[in-house]
Amino acid sequence: MCPTSDQADIVTDAENTDTDSINTIDTASPPLIDLTGCDADDLDEVVKTLGLPKFRAKQIWRWIWRHGLTRFDDMTDLGKPVRALLPQHLIITRPVITSRQKSTDGTIKWLLRFADGNEAEAVYIPDADRGTLCVSSQVGCTLTCTFCHTGTQRLVRNLTVAEITGQVLIAMDELGEWPATHDGRRLTNIVMMGMGEPLFNYENVAKALRIIMSGEGIGLSKRRVTLSTSGVVPEIMRCGAELGVNLAISLHATNDELRDVLVPINRKYPLKTLIEACRNYPGLSNARRVTWEYVMLDGINDSDAEARALVNLIKGIPSKINLIPFNPWPGSGYERSKDDRIDSFAAIVMKAGYASPIRTPRGEDILAACGQLKTTSERLRKSQIKAITD
Ligand code: SAH
Ligand code: SF4
Repeated sequence: MCPTSDQADIVTDAENTDTDSINTIDTASPPLIDLTGCDADDLDEVVKTLGLPKFRAKQIWRWIWRHGLTRFDDMTDLGKPVRALLPQHLIITRPVITSRQKSTDGTIKWLLRFADGNEAEAVYIPDADRGTLCVSSQVGCTLTCTFCHTGTQRLVRNLTVAEITGQVLIAMDELGEWPATHDGRRLTNIVMMGMGEPLFNYENVAKALRIIMSGEGIGLSKRRVTLSTSGVVPEIMRCGAELGVNLAISLHATNDELRDVLVPINRKYPLKTLIEACRNYPGLSNARRVTWEYVMLDGINDSDAEARALVNLIKGIPSKINLIPFNPWPGSGYERSKDDRIDSFAAIVMKAGYASPIRTPRGEDILAACGQLKTTSERLRKSQIKAITD
């Protein structure tokens, strides 16, 4: 099903981030369908309903996802009557950019506002050989990993498909990435590592990623997409079988006793079940490995013994290890491991055959680094949160 405009964002002009540019929609008229939340099948259906031939769907798709257009009037091969018809029923939206910050290291963080006023963040991280967009899957997070700023945010709701693809579209707009086939792409990778637990919003995340990976549009290869989960075991297999994207696991501890505290979902899906699910992740090979994320917390999980336990735990699984120096936030109660501790831990990991395991923190000066994302959106009722997590 396609989202209608009352479920999604209502700004059409990508250039203009001024709030005055919001197209408020007359609620008395039938809601407009937001095409940024529609996959190719949805668009076929929409086009059919409007009495147009099927090939129109292909044309519109390419304008949206290959060329980044937001106005039907600019779709030059559609013919005037069609161009006049489409905006009566359809809309192509962007989230509103409420703020945009650029770090001294080139990282860009966008705070994006959606139609209901809630906000989420997307972060672009440029590197010499790639440009990675870190995408959010929820407003806040229902989980409460004790070291994560997002986990302290009170409001939680799933993002819609349009709100997830909208983060990518905003980044493509701002980075001058249209047409998506141009040489020297700056946005080459996507990581579902922003706010929220993507496997608690699997359907929307999967649909959004399929749209972004479509060869007729942005065409990002599944090898360049990574989904990070805290360990929602039942959905891990699905993610591999249906999407085939890379898997990252927020491990952070090598025994249940500590992981129960740091990553509380471990009480529901303990390490043994998590490791087993990863061992069976479809398509794993030396070219396609599981990434194990391990936040380095001073005096908590950073001993040499834990480094050895980590290597042992994942033995036999094609793996990369990502040691993430803890990114501090006000009132966390944790501290980043000392540099020599991180080096000693990393040396054990490297000796076991895992190259360059330390992830350099990026965008720290604008609170854009892992686990620092948080917006001020307000709390939902408990029943609504329950509906999301059930
Ligand atoms: N919810 C998903 C994806 C988002 S978090 C997950 O937990 O996997 C992205 C990564 O940042 C996760 O590995 C998370 O554990 C880590 N992280 C969270 N808070 C952090 C912090 N303060 N410092 C460093 N890494 C953190
Ligand atoms: Fe949620 Fe991931 Fe943060 Fe845990 S680490 S609270 S799962 S966003």
